[in-house]
Amino acid sequence: MSPLGPARKEWLTCVAGGRAPDTEGLGLEAAGVALEEGGRKIKVDPYGRTTNPKVFAIGDLVNKKALAHKAEEEGVVAVETAAGVETEPVDQDLLVGATFTHPQVASVGLTEAAAKEAGMPIKVGKQKISGEGAGTVYDDKDGLVKLVIDTTYGEVVGAHIVGNRACDMIAELVAVMALEGGYQELSRIVHPHPTVSEAVLDAARAVDSWAIHA
Ligand SMILES: Cc1cc2nc3c(=O)[nH]c(=O)nc-3n(C[C@H](O)[C@H](O)[C@H](O)COP(=O)(O)OP(=O)(O)OC[C@H]3O[C@@H](n4cnc5c(N)ncnc54)[C@H](O)[C@@H]3O)c2cc1C
Repeated sequence: MSPLGPARKEWLTCVAGGRAPDTEGLGLEAAGVALEEGGRKIKVDPYGRTTNPKVFAIGDLVNKKALAHKAEEEGVVAVETAAGVETEPVDQDLLVGATFTHPQVASVGLTEAAAKEAGMPIKVGKQKISGEGAGTVYDDKDGLVKLVIDTTYGEVVGAHIVGNRACDMIAELVAVMALEGGYQELSRIVHPHPTVSEAVLDAARAVDSWAIHA
């Protein structure tokens, strides 16, 4: 029997398909647009400029990740750059990986293992969704929030959430990370009750072992 019980067994089916950039047949070489990664991707600078000053590229054809929210923001930056407006490149390290399974999985920044491998002095904070009142209110207790903290200044360098609202919840942590916020500040930002977002607050407190709903 599945550890999830017979009623949940049907949820264990997984269908996974790959995606790849389609740069063939576009005449890019003739246009003076350089490729990289063995000709699979278009080479761009952080503003989407290709090696042809009249051609910009964004989205699945450039950089590492193939995500809709990445393509959208790269498009904004490329248009601003083409129009001569001062702008900022997309921070490729702050692009959330969002998996719309049940429960959802959302992840941004470094994992604990990657941070350790990079030689960072780290601490982690974890909080189960089931610890929060909202888990009971919504009868939805699966999952947890895990934060990876660089202890030098307390900066949040990674956030990982499993739970049925994970892909919404992670946006708060992207904002904290984009603003170079520390877990100390996050652990004193009052979150509304009863919400699953309180698990983010308690995960920040858990870094110093004072999660209130643990
Ligand atoms: C099934 C599926 C599910 C996905 N789910 C998610 C998700 O949940 N979250 C997420 O972030 N990402 C998701 N993605 C990925 C996301 O859709 C892509 O990362 C995103 O659409 C990339 O944007 P893009 O502008 O690079 O390319 P596209 O959105 O593919 O746009 C390219 C456009 O160019 C057009 N085109 C292609 N060749 C030519 C040509 N020769 N001349 C003129 N026009 C051309 C195409 O018709 C298309 O309209 C999913 C992708 C798939 C396939």
